[in-house]
Order: sequence, then C-alpha cells, then structure tokens
Amino acid sequence: MKKHNFSAGPCILPQEVFEKAAQAVLNFNDMGLSLLEISHRDKAFVAVMEEARALALDLLGLTGKGYQALFLQGGASMEFLRIPYNLMRVDGKAAYLDTGTWASGAIKEAKAFGETVVVASSKPENYNHIPTGYAIPEDADYFHCTSNNTIFGTQMKSFPETNVPVVCDMSSDIFSRTLDFSKFDLIYAGAQKNMGPAGVTLIVVKEEILGKTGRAIPNIMNYQQHIDKESMYNTPPVFAVYTSLLTMQWLKNLGGIAAIEKLNEAKAQLIYNEIDRNPLFKGTTVKEDRSNMNATFLLVDESHKEKFDSMWKAAGISGINGHRSVGGYRASMYNALPIESVQVLVDIMKELEKSI
Ligand code: PMP
Repeated sequence: MKKHNFSAGPCILPQEVFEKAAQAVLNFNDMGLSLLEISHRDKAFVAVMEEARALALDLLGLTGKGYQALFLQGGASMEFLRIPYNLMRVDGKAAYLDTGTWASGAIKEAKAFGETVVVASSKPENYNHIPTGYAIPEDADYFHCTSNNTIFGTQMKSFPETNVPVVCDMSSDIFSRTLDFSKFDLIYAGAQKNMGPAGVTLIVVKEEILGKTGRAIPNIMNYQQHIDKESMYNTPPVFAVYTSLLTMQWLKNLGGIAAIEKLNEAKAQLIYNEIDRNPLFKGTTVKEDRSNMNATFLLVDESHKEKFDSMWKAAGISGINGHRSVGGYRASMYNALPIESVQVLVDIMKELEKSI
C-alpha cells in the first residue's frame, strides 16, 4: 500500500513522475538505451536540459526578463558558498536574515568571505517567527533570506522592499505559491522537495548582477561560467535534471504555480484548523508566519505520544516526526501530497481526541 508521505525531504513526488522516470531509466525516448547510459552531450539529453531551463523560468514568470536558470550539483548548501563568491565584492559586505538552521548555515559560509551583517534573528525564540522591522544596509552587495524554514515551520509571507539585490533560498517552497519573482535577483532551491530527487539545485539568476565582485572565481564556483556553458560546464546529474523536468511538466499541465497554490492553501488550512481546534495539540510557531509547506505541532500532553504514534502508523502515515531541534511533529505538505493524505492525518487527530 502506498503510504501517506509527509516526509520533509527528500519527499513525495507525483506518482506519474516516478513512473515516467522509472521508464526512462529502462528505455529513454524509445532509444533502446537508458537515460543513465547516454552522453549528456547526446541531443536527446541536451533537449532535456534546454527544456528544463526554459520551463523553470516559464513557471516563475521570468522568461525574457534577463534571468538564467541553471541546474548545478552540490545541494543548496553549495549555493551558501557560491553566492558570496559571486556576489560579495572584495571588501564589500552582505546582509542576511537569520530565520533558521539553513539561514544560519548560509551566514556561516558568507562570513568566510567578508563582512556579513545579520539584520535580524529569531534564534532566541527558537526561530518560531519571522523577524520584522529590520533595516538592510544600503551599501550591502546583496540581502539573503530563506523563504520557507523547513525545520521550524515558518514562511515569509512578504519580502522587504530594498534597492539591494535580493537573494532567496526557496529550497522548501519553490513552485508552491505565486510571488512576483522578478523582485528577486537570485533564487535557489535544492530539488528534493517540490522539484525532483536530491542531487541537483535550481539556480535562477538575473545575469546583470554577476561579474561585479573584483574577485577571481574558480570556474566550478562561477555562475557566469555555468551560464556560458549552458549548465553543462561539467557532467550534469542527468537523472535528477530529467526527473525535475518531469515534475515541472506535471505542474505546468496542472495549471502552473497559481493552480497548485490553491491546493496548498487548502491543505494548510485543513491541518492548521485542526491543530487550533483540537485541545490535544498546539502549533509551534506564531500563526501569521505559519508555513504552508511544513506544519509543526506538539502534543500538549506528551503522555499521549505512544497512542498517537501507533494510530498514525496504522493509518499508513509516514514521515511526520518533528526535527530534533523542535520536537513533536512536522507534516510536510509539498506540491505532490494529495489533500486526501492531510485528511487522513486530521481524522487520526480527531480520533485520538475521542479516544481520551
Ligand atoms: N535550505 C533549506 C531551506 C533546506 O530545507 C535545506 C535542506 N534540504 C537546505 C537549504 C540544504 O539543502 P541541501 O541538503 O540540498 O544542501
């Protein structure tokens, strides 16, 4: 039986994507060859990379606006390093908003390069909200934020207005909600939530912000180099790129980001309504910053844990244990998770209440 998969990532992808990806491993495009055994320079794979790069921009509404999409290796964590390499001037400085584990990981890498100003942090409250009322230094080379904090279950609902280039880690909410993406100068996302398998990162960069640091950048770290080589500077992770393309095609056929956003809002409303209604549970974040992707919550009385855990496991639910730095539970509801799975979880929460 297929599980109700609430894993935080790697996570559920559309069933049809799994099936098409599996088929391509056996026989890609009816070539009599596996996707995994052809050259990445074969025209069949070059077409995959071209379509993936174009479709990423299309879904974000950024086609023809001076942006380039890249599919690179090293995970989102590699971009923590590539970003200061490419954007922080020698003797310059960068501004960062500290909203969680991943944001602070990005800050650590930037500090190795130069002056890194943390404009605000919600760390003292265990990252249970998104700070507001901070100022971004006007002379910063860029401002970095994390749109969705996978571990702590918070999501930025608005972004600061600034003249400084805005860089955003959208690893855990890329393609999940409509935003004016042209307000961002660089967006990046590890694939393994809403896009595909682990092993590739999408980077969408406004080309005009590059080449200004005065720093020598090794080729593998250099976005311009990857753009010039059409995201094939070195062998790309072909399976991860192809599977990401399949997921983007699935999303496009569904009606794009605007269509999935409605479903994501319905899923989030369903679970948060139950968390707020059911006296046995409580959320871990302030309400206005709740993530539509990762809902984090606790049992008010931990003594019900054993019972609750056995009930959701028996219902075929998987992957809702919270991260160790928050505890409790985390229901990750990425694009491919059907609302029926959220309903199963909500029903179990109601059943627990009745049984006590
Ligand atoms: N940023 C965010 C928001 C994340 O959730 C994660 C974890 N998937 C990362 C960065 C790190 O990603 P990776 O493991 O691909 O380096």
